[in-house]
Amino acid sequence: MDTQPGERCPFLQERLVNYCSAAQLTKFVPFSTQTGRCGTDSYRFCEAYLELARPAKPEEMHAPPALLYSPNHMWLHSSGTGTVHVGIDGFLAHLLGSIDQITFTTLRGMQRPSAVLSVGGVDWPLVFPNPMLIASANLYLRCAPNRIVDDPYGAGWLFEGKEPAGGNVRQGLITGDDAQRWADHEQQRLLEQISRIGQKAGVANDGGSIVRGVMRQLSREETLRLCHEFFAPHASFWREI
Ligand code: SF4
Repeated sequence: MDTQPGERCPFLQERLVNYCSAAQLTKFVPFSTQTGRCGTDSYRFCEAYLELARPAKPEEMHAPPALLYSPNHMWLHSSGTGTVHVGIDGFLAHLLGSIDQITFTTLRGMQRPSAVLSVGGVDWPLVFPNPMLIASANLYLRCAPNRIVDDPYGAGWLFEGKEPAGGNVRQGLITGDDAQRWADHEQQRLLEQISRIGQKAGVANDGGSIVRGVMRQLSREETLRLCHEFFAPHASFWREI
């Protein structure tokens, strides 16, 4: 480097940076990290983004087409650059209505993301069927668990991680039209199940939909039966999809 005195300090360097205009204090984002959260569509899970530009919520029982779904009602979002997020779908959020507590049972490393949801005295372990390299869990949910059910596709995300090299984190998941057909079928199956256990209070006045938070109206045994039917790790897709 030329350190001879001149018109400007020889140690002044110029670099291209981005900055986050959502942060109260200017936060510079290195230009080289265009594949991180800020430079990919993983931004949709950033707290600062969600604070200022919360996107319209999808209809609760609708399956957003950009996501992939597991049979036990969890979703996977891939940024296309290897970063993935996992959460619960709107169907499960609607049934829960609210939750008392979440306990993360996996926090880092190559694992099947899992967490225990506590609702009305029932603890239900949710396990995403495929392993991924977990980088972090959304620990903020420990003190604000209802974010999971109020914004399941945004601030209520559960895990962030990387697609494992050579692994297949998308194996057995469905998306697009298949996902919506499956979601519609699951609603019908749920209506039949709720009617079978005689919980008329769980069915809305229109006779064709389930009231939000129906799980809190069920007995412990009925809740467990419903969870085994729809949210167990061994759940499988409706075979005619
Ligand atoms: S993703 Fe978040 S930190 Fe990055 S630019 Fe957007 S709001 Fe700022």
